[in-house]
Amino acid sequence: MTATLVTGICELVTNDETVSGADDSEGLGMLAQAAVVVEDGVVRWIGSGRAAPPADEVVDLGGRAVIPSFVDSHAHLMFAGDRATEFAARMTGVPYDGGGIATTVAATRAASDDELRRLLAGRIAELRAQGTATVEIKSGYGLTVSDELRALRIAAEFTDETTFLGAHVVPAEFADRRVEYLQLVTGPMLAACAPHARWVDVFCEPRSPHAFTGDEARVVLAAGRDAGLGLRVHGNQLGPGPGVQLAVQMSAASVDHCTFLSDADVDALAAAADTTVATLLPGVEFSTRSPYPDGRGLIDRGVSVALATDCNPGTCYSSSMPLVIALAVREMRLTPAEALRAATVGGAQALRRNDIGRIRVGGRADLTALDAPTYLHLMYRPGVPLCRVLELP
Ligand SMILES: [Zn+2]
Repeated sequence: MTATLVTGICELVTNDETVSGADDSEGLGMLAQAAVVVEDGVVRWIGSGRAAPPADEVVDLGGRAVIPSFVDSHAHLMFAGDRATEFAARMTGVPYDGGGIATTVAATRAASDDELRRLLAGRIAELRAQGTATVEIKSGYGLTVSDELRALRIAAEFTDETTFLGAHVVPAEFADRRVEYLQLVTGPMLAACAPHARWVDVFCEPRSPHAFTGDEARVVLAAGRDAGLGLRVHGNQLGPGPGVQLAVQMSAASVDHCTFLSDADVDALAAAADTTVATLLPGVEFSTRSPYPDGRGLIDRGVSVALATDCNPGTCYSSSMPLVIALAVREMRLTPAEALRAATVGGAQALRRNDIGRIRVGGRADLTALDAPTYLHLMYRPGVPLCRVLELP
């Protein structure tokens, strides 16, 4: 086993308030002039660079900042094709209603296993080059038993955080037979997919004729829970709706989008802050030219907030957590520290993980280095490629 000393860290963000010598004024557990020892993918030591123990190898970062690698807790990376022309149409005024998903379903069904694997590997590399080490990957562009199963099998080669999203939209061939499609999703499709998934998700959006009502979503989530899966919900994206209340009632780990919330929705999320995270996806609002969720208001009222990309070929074809962070600060008025926490430890909470999102002894050595002296450059220099996951032995 090789012990690697990572030194020359001008500013280390640990998100761990218990780390000795840390400045925790912003909840970031920050150390100046720090070093970290990593062995076998695990953090073994954290402290001042001057006090660092000997190691087999030394990586000198030369005065860069290091943060916990981003946790992207909501992404649809398993697809073929793209929808650039749909994006162009939307930018000239065509509204989004979830219907374009059918285009991606057709392209994904037509792709070979090897093609899907190659595309996914490329996207994972793209994420790591932007500082993300953990990503949740949803199915949902297959929408047949065999295509959903295939998506989850391939996704599981790349992440532990696989999500069955058979209830993404009602596929065209079931347009007049919604009840039958729900029976398929909660019956044979779930039975085939559950062994390869950790989570079940549903696009609960009564405003979209392609997505699912609150009653339909409840059936999907209950069946997933009975099959041993954790719960996630797409809710309140296109307008007010039942998604948030349903997620809280069913103790879902996360309800995602949360763009159109009532006061009662916010109260419910605040009361459930230890259980259900509100995951905000501002890349979607950016890419669809839509109003942003009230991130500032959610945090002020005690809601647990995560930030994620929702990377998908329709409404946000960006895998950039730094972009999401910059938007959260600029457009949703999170402080820089809040945005960084939401993109790291917030994502970990949304995935119910304790081993990621922080840098602490015994935790995973997911370290992201910035070509900058402080994490503030993430928000201060939007669009500049500053971040990468450190690839250590
Ligand atoms: Zn999504």
